[in-house]
Amino acid sequence: INAADAIFSGLADHLVPQRVLRPVVRLSDVVNRLAAQDYAVEPPTVDRIDEIGDMAQAIRVFRENGLERQRLAAQREADLAGRDLLAKMTQRMQGCDTLAELKDVIQRFVPRIVLDLAGRLYLADETRGALVEACHWLGPRHSRTEFPPLACWALRRNLPHRPAGTQIDVPCEHLDLKTGAALPDTICLPLNAQHDMLGMLYFELRHEHGTAVMPLDYVQLLTENIALALGNLRLRDALRDMAMTDPLTGLANRRQLDEALKSRTVQAGQDGKPISCLMIDVDHFKRFNDLFGHDAGDAVLREVGAVLRGAMREQDISSRYGGEEFLALLSGVSAADAQARADMIRSRIAGLELVFGGTDLGTITASIGVATAPQHCHADALVETADAALYRAKAQGRNCVVVASPDERKEGGQRASSKA
Ligand code: GH3
Ligand code: MG
Ligand code: MG
Repeated sequence: INAADAIFSGLADHLVPQRVLRPVVRLSDVVNRLAAQDYAVEPPTVDRIDEIGDMAQAIRVFRENGLERQRLAAQREADLAGRDLLAKMTQRMQGCDTLAELKDVIQRFVPRIVLDLAGRLYLADETRGALVEACHWLGPRHSRTEFPPLACWALRRNLPHRPAGTQIDVPCEHLDLKTGAALPDTICLPLNAQHDMLGMLYFELRHEHGTAVMPLDYVQLLTENIALALGNLRLRDALRDMAMTDPLTGLANRRQLDEALKSRTVQAGQDGKPISCLMIDVDHFKRFNDLFGHDAGDAVLREVGAVLRGAMREQDISSRYGGEEFLALLSGVSAADAQARADMIRSRIAGLELVFGGTDLGTITASIGVATAPQHCHADALVETADAALYRAKAQGRNCVVVASPDERKEGGQRASSKA
């Protein structure tokens, strides 16, 4: 019996490690690595209907749960990072003073917030009657850079439009699609602010056959924030325009003129170039108002403003100085050229055929004083000197141009000092 026992236990010693110990050792190795959160380890497949098989199955489930936990944690982290970036982007957009700055922020942040989406920002261009690309990111392939508003279903309905999403819909005409191919996953989102359509935000999935899905919540948040930023920028521009332009003529107002005067005269001094000033005053305008009424007078001032604007180069400043007086500032223009320009303006004003509300208003004339620094005066005294020359033009009988003399202010005395 003892001998048989010895033989059996010897066999068992040899057999147990083969059938039991080896898988147990392998499983315990897997458990150790899983405990260290190393989910890359593959549990061995043990097709056995016993405790070891059960144990292997339990370990597989444990690993799958771990993997899922890890995936959720990564997603949460990506979500947090995305939200942080979105908050930062919104803050940066609020600080933008120009459209160029805003486009830069959008191009930098959007592809980092929605990683799998290429896209394009379109702005409504009223003069072209079209949506025109302002910027794009990650190379969108399906949407054209310019199209009429009616070519986009999102703009027609003023609602987000996603033709190949979870529900079937009509693709927009501004999409370039291959016939026969599956519709790419795209979304168009109207950008609205202060009840106006400002543009459209477009996204498409970058890899059509990948596993990425359209992150609609981010897309929606981005749309709202970008629309708000565009609206703020537009409001700010409108306010700046209002603060800087004369509402009747659309010319620069006194505030804008004063700023321009400061910078242009300093610049002219630095460049050693002449700078000229024309002071224009409509003749006997009080009489004109009395005769035809204030509204007709306003219409005439608008026309005079248009003449002045039409006689300016891009870099010149034309302004309504006040009442029926206008001022033009011409950098780098000599006295002789300024005089020629003034005479052209004078003759165009005299040539206006004025009609208001069906009534023939006849014609009007204007007198113009011209001064050039440094020829006639120091740049600081440009306006007063032109005004003194204008005073002489009035005295000489109106509808004429007078160029300042070097001691103009002493001659022009009274009017110049009453202005200053
Ligand atoms: P002068 O040839 O000497 O310049 O005579 P004037 O009548 O043009 O000059 P005055 O300074 O006596 O009168 C200017 C008139 O311009 C007074 C006012 O009725 C008119 N005026 C000023 N601002 C406006 C405006 O915004 N609209 C209208 N319609 N008239 C204005
Ligand atoms: Mg006047
Ligand atoms: Mg006048």
